[in-house]
Amino acid sequence: MTVLDTAPSTRIPFLDLAAVTSAHRDRLEEAWRSVVDDGRFVGGPAVERFETEFSSFCGVGHAVGVANGTDALELILAGLSIGDGDEVVVPTNTFVATVEAICAVGAVPRFVDVRPDTLLADPDAVADAVGPRTAAIVAVHLFGHMSDPEPLRRIARARGLALIEDAAQAHGARYGSVSAGGVGVAAAFSFYPGKNLGALGDAGAVVSDDADLAARIRRLADHGRSGTDRHVHEESGRNSRLDALQAAVLSAKLPALPGENAGRTRAVEVYRRHLPAGIDLVEAADEAVPAHHLAVVRVAGRRAVTEHLDGAGIGWGIHYPVPCHRQPAFARFAGDPLPVAEAAARQILSLPLSPHLSDDLVERVCSTLAEAPR
Ligand SMILES: *Cc1c(COP(=O)(O)O)cnc(C)c1O
Repeated sequence: MTVLDTAPSTRIPFLDLAAVTSAHRDRLEEAWRSVVDDGRFVGGPAVERFETEFSSFCGVGHAVGVANGTDALELILAGLSIGDGDEVVVPTNTFVATVEAICAVGAVPRFVDVRPDTLLADPDAVADAVGPRTAAIVAVHLFGHMSDPEPLRRIARARGLALIEDAAQAHGARYGSVSAGGVGVAAAFSFYPGKNLGALGDAGAVVSDDADLAARIRRLADHGRSGTDRHVHEESGRNSRLDALQAAVLSAKLPALPGENAGRTRAVEVYRRHLPAGIDLVEAADEAVPAHHLAVVRVAGRRAVTEHLDGAGIGWGIHYPVPCHRQPAFARFAGDPLPVAEAAARQILSLPLSPHLSDDLVERVCSTLAEAPR
């Protein structure tokens, strides 16, 4: 547990990764020693162990460790043979990686708007966007809040589409009795250092209950190599493997994840109680049990507020200031305006949040926000 000085002059970082990581120092050093002694640095027992632990954490049959979360998404699409000529429905309010993966396999992103309350994909907009070329829907569990699985499952089932999850921000999130990773045919996780479960570098995983799909993704991520003869390459794949060192780091940190998510939840509860009027949290649906990757509020006059936070030494972020369909890289795929996401992008603000953020510091962020000119 990191104890931070609460003197009013102390900076409150958006996320202090060194402090969060130092809580795991002994287990991390032990993990690295065991991998150095073992001598297998790509694949091997450390990777197999983490894959087993993470699939059981998600309540899903199979996990395949890969190089990062973007690759995990791309490999799911490739593993489902989605590519040229296919369309993939995706909420515009996501990190660009979701869209990059769709473009990387040669498919076309069909952007849809989000619900005004959760800022997650609007199921009606998803249903409207499905056309003859649609092959898949990506449910993005943004901020650690899961998308309501049922309407998306219904659309996917009725139209014969693959439902894929981008769970890069949602390790340990639930919706009713369903866990992130257990909604669709496969889910992509990122272990980028700032995520709820973070490696000491880049890492990712695909989870799926479909053994054949998981096996194909494992092959594609390892040069198309046959599972039974390493000199037989069954299809042209690529290299997107998980390092043993990162796998050992992730195994060392995974047991603490539920407690860390509970710490995030506690901090969000303090925000909920102390935020000033007119600055409201973006809340998940009632049935959702969020992993609280981010504490996102909506505020009018954001510029003045962020300048005030800067002056008080309080970190902040914006996830994300430009909706994907407005990014130069993807503007050619933009259709009609997506007004809910466009309006939200001007107002959203992510406040400091980490597993060990004390109540005092959260209250100080709230009192600083109360004093901000708006
Ligand atoms: C982080 C993130 C990704 C990409 O993960 P990387 O490991 O950085 O490649 C994809 N989608 C979302 C929503 C993310 O937050």
